Amino acid sequence: MQPHTNLLALSLLLCIVNGLCENCSRIEIDHHRGFVSTFIKYLDNALDFLFQVFFGGETKPVSNRPSEDSDSDTDADAELNRVSYKGFHLLRIWPHTDDAIENLKMLGEQPRVQLWLPPLKNMSVDVILPPNMASAVKNELTENDIEYSILSNDIEKMIVDQNPQKSKRKWFKDTKPSKLTWTKFHPLEDIYNYLEHLQSTYSDIVDLITIGKSSEGREMRVIRISSGKSKDMSLKPAIWIDGGIHAREWISPAVALFIIRQLVEHNKSYKNMIDDLDWYILPLANPDGYVYTHTVDRLWRKSRSENEETSGRYFWDQQDCKGVDLNRNWDHRWNEVGASDNPCHETYAGRAPFSEPETRAMSNFIKEHRDRIIIYLTLHSYSQMWLMPWSSTKERHNDYDDLLYMGRKAIESLKKTHGTNYNLVSKQTNSYPISGCSDDWAKSKVGIKYSYTIELRDKGTYGYLLPPTQILPTGKEIFTAIRTLARSVLSNMLKNSKNARKIEK
Ligand SMILES: [Zn+2]
Repeated sequence: MQPHTNLLALSLLLCIVNGLCENCSRIEIDHHRGFVSTFIKYLDNALDFLFQVFFGGETKPVSNRPSEDSDSDTDADAELNRVSYKGFHLLRIWPHTDDAIENLKMLGEQPRVQLWLPPLKNMSVDVILPPNMASAVKNELTENDIEYSILSNDIEKMIVDQNPQKSKRKWFKDTKPSKLTWTKFHPLEDIYNYLEHLQSTYSDIVDLITIGKSSEGREMRVIRISSGKSKDMSLKPAIWIDGGIHAREWISPAVALFIIRQLVEHNKSYKNMIDDLDWYILPLANPDGYVYTHTVDRLWRKSRSENEETSGRYFWDQQDCKGVDLNRNWDHRWNEVGASDNPCHETYAGRAPFSEPETRAMSNFIKEHRDRIIIYLTLHSYSQMWLMPWSSTKERHNDYDDLLYMGRKAIESLKKTHGTNYNLVSKQTNSYPISGCSDDWAKSKVGIKYSYTIELRDKGTYGYLLPPTQILPTGKEIFTAIRTLARSVLSNMLKNSKNARKIEK
């Protein structure tokens, strides 16, 4: 070992063991890959050993999933492959002309550029730019009188701030086995352990159902929360909530889990909710993508299925045209508008409707329970919007007024929690139509009347990189809104059935 390497080892040891510098291991890794990989694995094993000596039991939860997390070598390997956003800029741009919109769309086609929202006239769009393009684009915007502001000149820093890498010792202090902290965005393994913990601890009201497997073989787990049959022993109405269809929208699974926590761990406070309604919640609809955002590319959106090679242009990384946009793969006007047939594109709709195991598993399960599911909710981020179908057409459905009424009640109660404003938006008035998405399918093909997409916090200050301090406030206000929605829909059903009985008499 060279003296230089010894120094490096010493500094890394201080950094990692004392948690003094949470980023330094990553910085050094770029330059000293081979050595650091070995070093981290050595340190990892040593810390595991110490935990076993002092605390007993298993330090790593047992998993039968083919996850990166289940392999002791892969944490460090994944770290080596991590996509760095060092020096990437996040710009907010306000296009006011058609030309500016077109130019932004063209900019979005460039490698390593991401438009976080589609460009619309007189509305801001958040754009990620690689370091080598940032100043040229800024000059261009200034020359063309296009308004913009810089939200960040180092995305990597936002990523690290959002979910700092903790030393294992600190992590162990913060986390009880099988518990989520609500102060960080947890990896898949913690989430699944938490669900298993709820199943074993609250077996009278919780069922864990594996509805299928992802393209990389991870289980898709729905939690069913129910206190049993209804008072008249008939099957109860149900609500479906899914989170994490888009991998990088971490607040979405976190909010789904918060709702689960409230209903299960505080079931006495929400007795009516689980007496009157069965809850089916799938916190991780895209488990492969979620793992990938934790281990390789924080801003990955799609699933991770294999696609055939394409000869066309590449969008993000020439080597990685994997994955399908799981919110473009549903069998409702599939791939007609606002979706791409290029596998390298972020909105790739897949080979066919339901070509993906994830959307097949979800849709089959929902169809099997179609007689009972009265509300379909899918959690996304960001922009604080409560969206109602249709997404792909400007036609109004017959339930438009009812959905508007119930949606308004939901966002009014949401606002009372923390004063947060959500816009209730009919997707048909949205200026960017999309097709093949889940809420349109749930409404049109399954007939679930109250079908909404909820775009969670924030309005773009952090976008997809929302700090974990916002998990609890976002969870509380959304849970309040969903309870209001559920209560309103149930009392409406009761009123209608009473009216129907009167007419029969
Ligand atoms: Zn989304």
